[in-house]
Amino acid sequence: MFILLLGAPGSGKGTQGKVLAERLGLPKITTGDILRAAVRAETPLGREAKKYMDAGSLVPDSVILGLIKEELAKPEAQQGAVLDGFPRTAAQAELVDRTLAERGQRLNHILLLDVPEEELVRRMTGRAADEGRSDDTPDAIRTRLQVYQRDTAPLIAHYAERGIVKRVPGVGGVDDIATEIKRVIGR
Ligand code: AMP
Repeated sequence: MFILLLGAPGSGKGTQGKVLAERLGLPKITTGDILRAAVRAETPLGREAKKYMDAGSLVPDSVILGLIKEELAKPEAQQGAVLDGFPRTAAQAELVDRTLAERGQRLNHILLLDVPEEELVRRMTGRAADEGRSDDTPDAIRTRLQVYQRDTAPLIAHYAERGIVKRVPGVGGVDDIATEIKRVIGR
């Protein structure tokens, strides 16, 4: 089973994705974590990605499509995965859709974590203090929210046509939201 967590930055995709992946025994693929690790390790990918990440922009598809392909090709991702942080653009969605279709698979559920913008800003600002993420500065936060609306939110309509988008209120306790996700996907 392939489950995509969709939602604005700060909507809790990472937290809920972790709970969900552990509960279902699925691997979680998180492009943001992979990129942050690459930045720390100063690999060519990390060096390329850093400037975009720090500014709150998306890393270009020319860089990210190869990474997505590689992750989906891993043995542990053959039967299912929780996708956190991708696809985030039309080109990425096309690649994921095509890769799974070639394997006779598809995205089974898209969980849209719904959180009001003031709460997103509050969470990301708090996280800046706790985790020191270089893209949780006020400017980068503003850019990330705009980029989400412009590039990623249109994917909701793309997938809604297939009737697989389920909106989950993303405000409240972690356990309550996890319970709602369990109810919505029926397992
Ligand atoms: P995240 O932790 O998912 O919010 O990602 C942090 C940053 O990593 C984003 O603001 C982007 O710069 C970059 N990033 C993560 N995933 C992607 C993706 N699928 N496509 C492009 N950029 C990404």
